[in-house]
Amino acid sequence: MAVEKHKPSTPALTEWDYAPAPETREIVTLEKRYGLFVGGDFVAPKSREWQPTISPATEEKLAEVAYAGEADVNRAVVAARGAFENGWSALAPAERAKYLFRIARIIQERSRELAVLESLDGGKPIRESRDVDVPLAAAHFFYYAGWADKLEYAFPNRRPRPLGVAGQIIPWNFPLLMLAWKIAPALAAGNTVVLKPAETTPLTALLFADICRQAELPPGVVNIVTGDGRAGAALVEHDDVDKIAFTGSTGVGKAIQRELAGTDTRLTLELGGKAANIVFDDCALDQAVEGIVNGIYFNQGHVCCAGSRLLVQESIYEQTVAKLKRRLETLRLGDPLDKNTDIGAINSKLQLDRITELVQSGKDEGAEIFQPACRLPEKGYWFAPTVFTNVAQSYRIAQEEIFGPVLSVLTFRTPEEAVEKANNTAYGLSAGVWTEKGSRILWMAERLRAGVVWANTFNRFDPASPFGGYKESGFGREGGRHGLEPYLRFDG
Ligand code: NAP
Ligand code: MG
Repeated sequence: MAVEKHKPSTPALTEWDYAPAPETREIVTLEKRYGLFVGGDFVAPKSREWQPTISPATEEKLAEVAYAGEADVNRAVVAARGAFENGWSALAPAERAKYLFRIARIIQERSRELAVLESLDGGKPIRESRDVDVPLAAAHFFYYAGWADKLEYAFPNRRPRPLGVAGQIIPWNFPLLMLAWKIAPALAAGNTVVLKPAETTPLTALLFADICRQAELPPGVVNIVTGDGRAGAALVEHDDVDKIAFTGSTGVGKAIQRELAGTDTRLTLELGGKAANIVFDDCALDQAVEGIVNGIYFNQGHVCCAGSRLLVQESIYEQTVAKLKRRLETLRLGDPLDKNTDIGAINSKLQLDRITELVQSGKDEGAEIFQPACRLPEKGYWFAPTVFTNVAQSYRIAQEEIFGPVLSVLTFRTPEEAVEKANNTAYGLSAGVWTEKGSRILWMAERLRAGVVWANTFNRFDPASPFGGYKESGFGREGGRHGLEPYLRFDG
């Protein structure tokens, strides 16, 4: 018998690729139009304005959403005030906790639906919305449910009491998670809320409204007013709001602070960042490279605490950059609903333009750009993962928040120089330190002017751990026992 020469039936290793693994959209039922969620019902906006929300990966219109005007915001504040006065604030704390536990459990039960909707509306990979955003949102409600009847223990001898109505304004990068960071502590402390989601990502907040109904939360305790910056401004300007909690850009944060100056409205601001991720020559380098990738390419770099400035010790510079470039070649960019996707779509055309402009400035100022070979889909908004080397501290790409998948690499020689360069920013939200030495981690953490310092990890979140900024990254803390304080008064 003739021996047939073995012919490989599969292509050479280099040609191997992942088969598509799309998550189904079937689980999500989209309405054609969504009204505002006020007093426990979806209502048509008095403004009569509706606008589409799209999928940034395909530019497909997903639904129409109400745009709240001043009268609509007022209606929501009146509903929140009514709910506060008529029961919520007087409810036994353990009863409040039950609602929060119920919401947490429903988020878990509906997690696939929430994850698919989050990826559809905002463009983030399903792997992230499924494994990070949604589980963390549920964890936040579980965590604050536990505090609701223990406020006296959290703040002994200070007689904590709720403030009243909280106005909450959130950005588009973690729509459901930022909602959870805002709503869970506010309700646990006994307040009612009016929440304004970002213009480009309203849909999971509207699904959350349905979850509130399912949990039989008393009407008016949570109100959701979709719309654009005008709705946010109307909420800030409203006389009957006791507290504003804002997460977003430093520019808008400053405007809100000016608006509220001289009033007795409480304010917390969670703003931008330009975090240093600092890699020492004694670190576990492969692990650090994973941390660098997670630090800046997670959620397309649309992360306020992203490790957007890499500081590498000079002695391992060449090696680190080579490993990083090799790792970048393996990142998969494309359909956010594909379970193998690492980098999804840029959230909006506006954000893509901002990133493109800043990247151009980096080239113009003299930095060296590297992007792996990757095909960008024709429709939608996309940006290839990018590394800039040869960056001077004065360049815009080393100073300004890009809020995209763009890393600027700088070097240092000594720990003192690393601290000085890391702190050379107007921001101060987070930092990362990679080293084998525990003593060095503590030495660095003492000197870094950042709200969070990660050691040998990055972008790790836990509801028990407070998060917030120094300097132009804002003030106030979210998460942990600290996160309750901005929603309480202690005046006896
Ligand atoms: P943004 O323009 O400041 O928007 C944030 C929110 O404020 C949105 O809901 C926005 O509505 C609303 N808004 C816009 N103008 C307003 C005004 N005059 N008064 C009241 N509200 C107004 O920020 P972005 O560009 O969407 O988000 C990215 C920024 O958020 C980045 O700088 C990032 O660092 C920061 N961020 C910080 C954190 C943190 O925890 N520190 C977390 C995430 C993001 P529209 O969407 O309708 O414009
Ligand atoms: Mg959208």
